[in-house]
Amino acid sequence: MLNVQCDDFGLYVHWPFCKKKCPYCDFNSHVQESVDQSLWRAAFKTELAYIAEFTKGKNLSSIFFGGGTPSLMEAQTVASILADANTHWAFDDDIEITLEANPTSIEAQKFQDFKAAGINRVSVGVQSLNDDALQFLGREHNAREAVRALEIAQKTFDRFSFDLIYARPDQTLKEWEEELSRAIDLSKGHISLYQLTIEQGTPFYIQHNRGDFKIPETDLAADLYELTNKIMADANMPAYEVSNYAAEGHQSKHNMIYWRYDDYAGVGPGAHGRVTVDGAKYATRTHRAPDIWLERNKAQGHGYHAFEKLDAAQSFEECFMMGMRIAEGVSIEKLEHLSGKKFADIFTSDKINSLAQEGLIIVTQTHIKPTQKGMQRLNSIMSYLL
Ligand code: SF4
Repeated sequence: MLNVQCDDFGLYVHWPFCKKKCPYCDFNSHVQESVDQSLWRAAFKTELAYIAEFTKGKNLSSIFFGGGTPSLMEAQTVASILADANTHWAFDDDIEITLEANPTSIEAQKFQDFKAAGINRVSVGVQSLNDDALQFLGREHNAREAVRALEIAQKTFDRFSFDLIYARPDQTLKEWEEELSRAIDLSKGHISLYQLTIEQGTPFYIQHNRGDFKIPETDLAADLYELTNKIMADANMPAYEVSNYAAEGHQSKHNMIYWRYDDYAGVGPGAHGRVTVDGAKYATRTHRAPDIWLERNKAQGHGYHAFEKLDAAQSFEECFMMGMRIAEGVSIEKLEHLSGKKFADIFTSDKINSLAQEGLIIVTQTHIKPTQKGMQRLNSIMSYLL
């Protein structure tokens, strides 16, 4: 019998609309002037009922409204999705219910309504505390609004997080150190810190290729990462994942579900899910385009277009890749269960020893985990081991 933390179950709800498309963003987000919220409420309702059939009897540990910009949802839409979810699944007593929010003043004013709707944690897309950087990133808010939104979050919720993007063009170590120190003062136990990456298909991809701006070279990016880890560890919010930092007890339950390879249902356009049905793990995917998702939803009662059964090798690989992102690492028992092999037969001892000697991984009785140095080189570790 598998005896690891595998009982958490989450629900991801994707709201695909934004007021404006940020030039670095490759998420499934679409600009649409007006959204018929009652139509969307009804569509979420049918899709929840559909996926609930495959996940009966589970308790929800976490619900996450992501996007897009879910803070553009009406609080009533959020409340109605939560009420529906609760008819399909029992909620854990300490369920975490997070909503991603942008810090424009209009959205921050809705925090109290979201709380009344059932949200108990927000994740605010601050991205920077510097006006020039926010303008470069094409954001709708300024630094003053961001600070104000964090103050409102602080007063409204026991737990909240916010995101910052660093390793921006021309950013120095000193500038980042100052910005991060200000961010820590505004935080309440959790911050996500992402290095700016240039994704194909985005306006930044074209501008970067054209030479309009440069992002830091590898060495500076590595120094920025190390500095970030040090500052956050000194502030008692160490990295518990490659880009996520938290004080004890403030780690995001929802993200841990992904990284521990537990099950989660995904609803809304382009949402992914992982559900175990009759002992087999399935990867689920819905139609990405909002209008197609909506149309399918109306025609067939859900917007899913794929339920792919994962074989042992696929599940093992996914579990390993997700788990190596977090400081606690991957449970060896879980890897053995998924692969049907003993740990010694999964990876050769030569490979494990050489990575351990280089200071990139640690293997304990129960887990294989990356060191902080290893977290920066996950891709090479993965390709070496897999
Ligand atoms: S607000 Fe978020 S999801 Fe929307 S375009 Fe900007 S980065 Fe993407």
